[in-house]
Amino acid sequence: MKTVFGPVPSRRLGNSLGIDPVPFKTCNWNCVYCQLGRTSPFTLERREYVPRVQILEQLQEAIAALPPGAVDWVTFVGSGETTLHSELGWLINAVKQETELPVAVITNGALLHLPQVRRDLLAADAVLPSLDAASERLYRKINRPHASLRLPQLLQGLRDFRAEYGGQLWVEVMLIKGINDGLRDLQALSAALETISPDEVHLLLPTRPPAEPWVEPASEEALQRAQFLLGRRARIIAETGGAFSLSGDSDVAEALIDILTRHPMREKDLLATLTKWTAEEGAALLGRLQDQGRIQPVSRRGERFWSIAQGRY
Ligand code: SF4
Repeated sequence: MKTVFGPVPSRRLGNSLGIDPVPFKTCNWNCVYCQLGRTSPFTLERREYVPRVQILEQLQEAIAALPPGAVDWVTFVGSGETTLHSELGWLINAVKQETELPVAVITNGALLHLPQVRRDLLAADAVLPSLDAASERLYRKINRPHASLRLPQLLQGLRDFRAEYGGQLWVEVMLIKGINDGLRDLQALSAALETISPDEVHLLLPTRPPAEPWVEPASEEALQRAQFLLGRRARIIAETGGAFSLSGDSDVAEALIDILTRHPMREKDLLATLTKWTAEEGAALLGRLQDQGRIQPVSRRGERFWSIAQGRY
């Protein structure tokens, strides 16, 4: 599995060259909306999951192969929690030596109470942590964090990081119908966000297959209400209109698995990326990969998605 992937179209970061520094679903949260399924391994351990030099070599190769202007951001993101990689600070600085592209880190923020994690992130141009709840009850219901993690820790970590960090802090809020989209919960979230003072608040919906089948996206009305209550910093982030491109790859099956490892896709969107293939040829490829035990269909809200086979739904 490649650690450096893409570029892929991102909702906020244009064409983003991704760095996925931890193995599939290595995380300290087990979010009900996680598009990659339930967490395993569930861990707090920070270590060098992938050798840092190996990641850097892959990045150098990827940058050398791309035409100028093909990438807008280099983004640490992927199939687990990025800050669990103990060499994240070294890696961010190494990327900045290699390229002038801005660097973003997507993280759940659960380890920001650790001074070393905050130091590791200082060189990034943008950090995107999550905050879906302002009560311990909702934190445990939505994010299902590791038993030793508590909400006050998460909030204090975010506040401390804001005080130390001069880059862009964009807090992500995932809005789930009937769970955290009510008036009182949004007012509590708004008060918590005021104490953090991020540059932006990004409102997201669980549009890809959630780990738990009962998770539904908040309604358009709830989304608008959230934007109003969370104030001038809040932006509604629509799902990207950009498409993954597969037909140009020499090994379409491997490219497809690479994408599905981080981004499960609706079947109809997936078949649309195979622009040089007929629908029958695309369906045959999916069937073959399923028979080989490499990908799986996932049904949510009456729609069919595809994910890699390791995903636990
Ligand atoms: S959404 Fe992110 S933080 Fe939540 S379980 Fe999935 S990988 Fe972990």
